Amino acid sequence: MSRTALATIHLGALRRNLARVRDRARAAKVMAVVKADGYGHGLERVARACADADALGVAALGDGLRLRSAGNRQRIVVLSGPDEPGDLAEFRRLQLDAVIHHESQLAWLAADRDTRPLRVWLKIDTGMHRLGFDAQNIVEIYTKLHALPNIDSDIVLMTHFAASDEFDNGLTAAQIARFNEATVELAGARALANSAGLLGWPTSFDAGAAHANTWVRVGGLLYGLSVVEGKSGADLGFEPAMTLSTRLISVKQVKKGERIGYAATWECPEDMAIGVAAIGYGDGYPRSAQPGTPALVNGTPAAIVGRVSMDLVTIDLRNVPAAQVGDRVILWGRELPVETIAAHAGTISYDLTCGMTRRVLFVEDDR
Ligand SMILES: *Cc1c(COP(=O)(O)O)cnc(C)c1O
Repeated sequence: MSRTALATIHLGALRRNLARVRDRARAAKVMAVVKADGYGHGLERVARACADADALGVAALGDGLRLRSAGNRQRIVVLSGPDEPGDLAEFRRLQLDAVIHHESQLAWLAADRDTRPLRVWLKIDTGMHRLGFDAQNIVEIYTKLHALPNIDSDIVLMTHFAASDEFDNGLTAAQIARFNEATVELAGARALANSAGLLGWPTSFDAGAAHANTWVRVGGLLYGLSVVEGKSGADLGFEPAMTLSTRLISVKQVKKGERIGYAATWECPEDMAIGVAAIGYGDGYPRSAQPGTPALVNGTPAAIVGRVSMDLVTIDLRNVPAAQVGDRVILWGRELPVETIAAHAGTISYDLTCGMTRRVLFVEDDR
């Protein structure tokens, strides 16, 4: 038990981050995006902490099923919609909203004789070129969709930003303009902004009287994850919702010139103590973390040395002379931003929190 890698999820942080999002979103409604198992924090638990959200956003039908099975009664939007015609009956039975982004889905809907109403979000491609209908054809598609008898007439119009995290990137302004132009004649709520849109592009959700009915779809900030290069979630005024920790299971003196770990890549510059912590890429700690990646041993900064292995990492303990077996090691969390680890591992914070494996023990605290 004591040697297990532990992901502590701070429910209070999730709740406060949601309140911060709502505050910044002004009059817009808030969709809490909980895809990828709540960015690795646990789908059902994040949904419970986000009971105040106006909707939850999931990637796939299966997540909607999990939430309904857990008794969740919030509005749930499946961000990629039905994957096959047979999914439609499940959407209706579970009362899930479907994002419609492709002609094939439109054809399934047109052929569907089920009379239970379905709520849909119409996804428009304004320049990211991933999911969505071409902005040029959107009036025609909206009209077709709206005419179907078993579709709720309140269709939400949505698009997704490709580069909203770069606050001086003209692509986002162009996407907003393209969206507004394509939808000017269409009724219904608007949903454009993600986390970075919420921070940097207020015109995408606070368009004044023109469209009072808007949404923001927020993932990263909810978990206290940064969406801006070079900043941590805390720099942006949000609290990390995950602390990843484990314990030292070995402390040894190693001689100057000896090498540490697989492929003997790291050489001790002097006689020194090396600690071994019970966590590795088998838990989701990134194998790509370079020597020098920080970890906290009993709260004191220390550096990972040598290669990360499946179950273990080796740590330079020169900063922590009193360290001993059983001491707590924090890999990331409130005291050590996950963004710092991501930078040392050549990736982004989302990738790290989403990567926790089933071996990690999840615990909740209310802080
Ligand atoms: C993931 C996702 C979001 C949330 O993005 P963040 O940058 O994490 O806020 C919003 N909308 C869609 C369609 C998404 O796929």
